Amino acid sequence: MIIAIDGPAASGKGTLARKLAKHFNLAYLDTGSLYRAVALRLVLDGDDPNIEERAVEAARKLDGSLLSDPGLRSGKVGEAASVVAANLRVREEILDFQRRYAASPGGAVLDGRDIGTIVCPDADVKLFVVANPQVRARRRFEELKAAGEDVTYDTVLADLQARDARDEGRAIAPLKRASDALLLDTSELDIETAFEEAVSIVEGRMNA
Ligand code: C5P
Repeated sequence: MIIAIDGPAASGKGTLARKLAKHFNLAYLDTGSLYRAVALRLVLDGDDPNIEERAVEAARKLDGSLLSDPGLRSGKVGEAASVVAANLRVREEILDFQRRYAASPGGAVLDGRDIGTIVCPDADVKLFVVANPQVRARRRFEELKAAGEDVTYDTVLADLQARDARDEGRAIAPLKRASDALLLDTSELDIETAFEEAVSIVEGRMNA
């Protein structure tokens, strides 16, 4: 079974994806972390994420050890990730790895922006997880503050809206709900309730 979960930043999709993978005993891939690892390489090397050759090179040599680097989750790296993710050649470098992962024996859960549309268009279950921008900014603000970043709620909200616009507006693999994806709005839900809803959606699809 392949479960594809897409949605904007801080919608809760990552937490849901991880919990679903555990619940259904499936492998789990956070595809945003791949774009973040490419971005982190560039940030560490002082390279501009807008320079295509540098970004493609970083994607080609994707360094697995960066996936556990604490810097991966910083606001700066999230922004740079969304810049490199708009590049077709960067996406092509990463696509194969994601598809091979999705083919893991026993199945997998992948979360990102284009899983249901591009990476796994034939996924058994597709979820599109959303929440309103203020709720998402509040969640991201709390996360970044807990990680020791010096941020304000207003700048987090502005960054998030800029990232949404870039992710939704790009020409290649934009953030978009697949026509057969089920919508899950977590604005008013705590994580346990959102998880219960997600489980019942998956079970509903499996039994259909
Ligand atoms: O999900 P996360 O916020 O960690 O993703 C970082 C960035 O990576 C996103 O803003 C998006 O631009 C990009 N991304 C993508 N396609 C995916 C996953 C993430 O373009 N499947």
